[in-house]
Amino acid sequence: MIGVAVLGSTGSIGRSTLEVLRRQRDHFRVVALTCGRNREEFAAQVAEWRPAYAGLALPGQDERWPCGPDVLVEAATHPDVGIVVNAVVGAAGLDATLAALRLGKRVALANKESLVMAGDLVMQAACTGGGEVVPVDSEHSAVLQCVTGRDSGLGRLILTCSGGPFREWPAERVAQAPVVEALRHPTWRMGQKITVDSATLVNKALELIEAHYLFRLSYDALEVVVHPQSIVHAFVEFCDGSVIAQLGFPSMELPILYALTHPARLPDTGVRRFDPVAAGPLTFEPVRREVFRALDVGVAAGRAAGTAPAVFNAANEVAVSAFLDGAAPFGRIAEIIDRVVQAHHPGPAASVEVVREADRWARGRARDLVKSS
Ligand code: NAD
Ligand code: MG
Repeated sequence: MIGVAVLGSTGSIGRSTLEVLRRQRDHFRVVALTCGRNREEFAAQVAEWRPAYAGLALPGQDERWPCGPDVLVEAATHPDVGIVVNAVVGAAGLDATLAALRLGKRVALANKESLVMAGDLVMQAACTGGGEVVPVDSEHSAVLQCVTGRDSGLGRLILTCSGGPFREWPAERVAQAPVVEALRHPTWRMGQKITVDSATLVNKALELIEAHYLFRLSYDALEVVVHPQSIVHAFVEFCDGSVIAQLGFPSMELPILYALTHPARLPDTGVRRFDPVAAGPLTFEPVRREVFRALDVGVAAGRAAGTAPAVFNAANEVAVSAFLDGAAPFGRIAEIIDRVVQAHHPGPAASVEVVREADRWARGRARDLVKSS
């Protein structure tokens, strides 16, 4: 029985994780749960799973559980935890990722922001602590499934992208897109932040940076293709030109289960069986990079490396919450991120403190830009 901590248990990935664990009670037990909001749902989860540790990760008070940001690290480092499912959204997930890896635990990582902010530090923590990062993100899970057992000759990755709700919209309309439309993702049901990131294609930029650190490939070997049906999750090309892909109906439960069991597999009756006829025609098209500019801004930040990806991530978090609050139009998100990244002089991401400082600077700058619009 492996002990699991689920950080962000009330979110989209957190709930799907508990759904998977409900079917795998012979193999895993829930040792720790944390959430940010949704206290009542959290209370029901705690009653069902009776974890050894439960905490609310946001400041405040609740007589039932410990509260505050330290809760994430406490849950992630609990001695009975072998696997930490990090399903927190945003920069708040970084410390728990690092702490778990330093103690030699597996991190099933949905919180891609940790890897984007501090990719080298995260991979170093895994190396020195003996922990491992196993991606939950469907594209990266697909890549991992394609390369596992084939440990040489990896050449190029092509990550697929649904194109988001504005795939076919004219540029002028995209710039003024309302919040309700941005939150209407064509193929995935996810939390609000990642849904907006999918509409701007910031999510794909974050994923390219994530792939760079996970699979140690240069940005020249990382590509994106639009695939509106979200059936093929990634293509992996080997050095001889052979291509292997991983397919499935869109559901996060399969990548979550695989992140828990990799490189082994467990039978799972909860996942919809694949049916190529029902999947229908599969189509592929290039990204409209001139409309979804944030993708290239993110790739440039990834290439600049050091503190640049953390700045890209932080500016995006501020711009997305401004958009969701009605304080910035959709088109301003990419513009704000671009201006913050342009104004930044990246240095080496030598420590978590340096990364946090870059993150703070970028948030301040992005907030000023939101105010000045
Ligand atoms: P969500 O908003 O549905 O859930 C986030 C969870 O984190 C909630 O439990 C919330 O209470 C908690 N939380 C929010 N802010 C917090 C904070 N400051 N400190 C601690 N906890 C906090 O988000 P989601 O869609 O489940 O996404 C979670 C992560 O997984 C993101 O990094 C996202 O990019 C990634 N991801 C999600 C999907 C998906 O299908 N939803 C797919 C791939 C990757
Ligand atoms: Mg993804």
